[in-house]
Amino acid sequence: MTDRTDVARVLGQIAAFLELKGENPFRVRAYQAAARAAADFPHDLEAARRSGALAETKGIGPATLEIIEDVLDTGTSRALEDLKDEVPPGLVEMLQISGLGVQKVRLIHEHLGIDTLSELEDAARDGRLAGLPRFGAKTAENVLKGLAFLRQTAEHRLVHHARAEARELARVLGALEGVRRVEVVGSLRRHMELIRDLDFVIELGGRVETLYDRLGRAPGVSEFVRHQERAVTLRFTTGTVADIFLATAEEFGFAMVRATGSLAHLAQLEARAGAVGLAWTDAGLLDGAEPVPAPDEAAVYAALGLQWIPPELREADGEVEAAAQGRLPDLVTLEDLRGFLHCHTNYSDGTSTVEEWAGAAGAAGYEYVGVTDHSQAAPYAGGLAPEDIDRQHTEIDAVNAKYPDVRILKGVEADILRDGSLDYTPDVRRRFDFIIASVHARFGLDQEAMTERILTAMDDPTMVVLGHPTGRLLLSRDPFPMDLDRVFAKAAARGIAIEINADPQRLDLDWRSVRRATEAGVTISLGADAHGTSGMANMEIGVGIARKGWLTRDMLLNARGLDGFFAYAGRRRNG
Ligand code: CA
Ligand code: ZN
Ligand code: CA
Repeated sequence: MTDRTDVARVLGQIAAFLELKGENPFRVRAYQAAARAAADFPHDLEAARRSGALAETKGIGPATLEIIEDVLDTGTSRALEDLKDEVPPGLVEMLQISGLGVQKVRLIHEHLGIDTLSELEDAARDGRLAGLPRFGAKTAENVLKGLAFLRQTAEHRLVHHARAEARELARVLGALEGVRRVEVVGSLRRHMELIRDLDFVIELGGRVETLYDRLGRAPGVSEFVRHQERAVTLRFTTGTVADIFLATAEEFGFAMVRATGSLAHLAQLEARAGAVGLAWTDAGLLDGAEPVPAPDEAAVYAALGLQWIPPELREADGEVEAAAQGRLPDLVTLEDLRGFLHCHTNYSDGTSTVEEWAGAAGAAGYEYVGVTDHSQAAPYAGGLAPEDIDRQHTEIDAVNAKYPDVRILKGVEADILRDGSLDYTPDVRRRFDFIIASVHARFGLDQEAMTERILTAMDDPTMVVLGHPTGRLLLSRDPFPMDLDRVFAKAAARGIAIEINADPQRLDLDWRSVRRATEAGVTISLGADAHGTSGMANMEIGVGIARKGWLTRDMLLNARGLDGFFAYAGRRRNG
């Protein structure tokens, strides 16, 4: 899945590489400008490329357009890959240290032959850096501070990017001699919405020291940052930092629990260990001087008198108490989903056809697909004009006749307008099987006005789901202010579902608020917000967020069969 963030990152990297190579500053600035234009681009890049709007965009010229098209088509850029062969990646990383601009980095490289962060650290400590022209002791000191800061605050990434990289790194680690097993742990395993560093647990099949050496030389490793007792931190050429925990088979379960976290959850487990007469130590769980056997996680939790706790729940929000009482929720799974909701077709800003959605959803085992293109108030996304609706409904009828195993529902994602009314006339709205109503414009209202706008929308009898309720875009746009509790109360009273939008840029409703919603009696709808059939994969990420919100199958609209879905959707319309 390619998005603005990918494109902007590639363009920004190209700018940095060109600058390090000493290219013409005008050329460098052209790439920087294009990176900003892509990051701030308000519409779908692929759609804008096809309409030609992208080529007209200020800041994007013929050379940078070619790069963007390459990234959209292939997920990467030839030009960037070529530059990577010419410039050592460590130099690009050095640019992130405050006080080190391109000129200083080039000086360091040319005078000291340094091209990794660890070499830079050595030179800052042993006086070589301070000895460079225009550097001095103060600069060397600042570089050390900058390095420490960089290691702490490695950039947050969207979860689908982190997942893809973790899969690749797990493959690299698993191929090393002396590694029996690799598991992805940390915040990624807990299904957090943003990921900083990656964490792995490795089962040792040999001597620790030999493995340290192999890890440092593994493909893609740019720096062996440090090793502590049974833990190694590596930096990869992609800039990713990975903590790798090493464990024997007998202690593997304990290592998994520790490396999965969260810290707050672990603090509660430690207290629990004390309460049941065990000791929670760096070396493992101890009963007196004896280690408690911990080959798997269930053994660790059982020793503490607890049910095994799913990783998504390990956030110190009541899960340890519930596990002690044997009352952990039976969390929803991907297999529980019967309907695939919220997808866009080529009638608005999607890339797949109705028929392609039927095929993909049928193959994935869904019983129904809720197609929801944008409504007419959304010309930016090619929203459906009333005559498009006729064409699309005819097409859906034909596809339904052709694919008896999966039912395409005639939905729409209708804009909630400034005054809280929904797009289209009531007659047009009644032509749809169901309506997801969402805010796509006028985000700048204050909390009172925004809350009133949403509450007003909920008076409409055709509204079935409130889409991406807070409008946030992770790493780029904050949620708009809204009184969630008032919205939850009205949604529960009216029988309107609230969406967990599974687009990895949204993941909105935030999992931290899902329990408040369900405790208020709200039904949740898990929507893929997919713009092409490759977005089927969003649902897996969305299920992780739903599980983090303690969601069980009965709370989820699209875990119901088709009759149950229609009963919910039609209740207010006919009443
Ligand atoms: Ca970590
Ligand atoms: Zn939307
Ligand atoms: Ca959209």
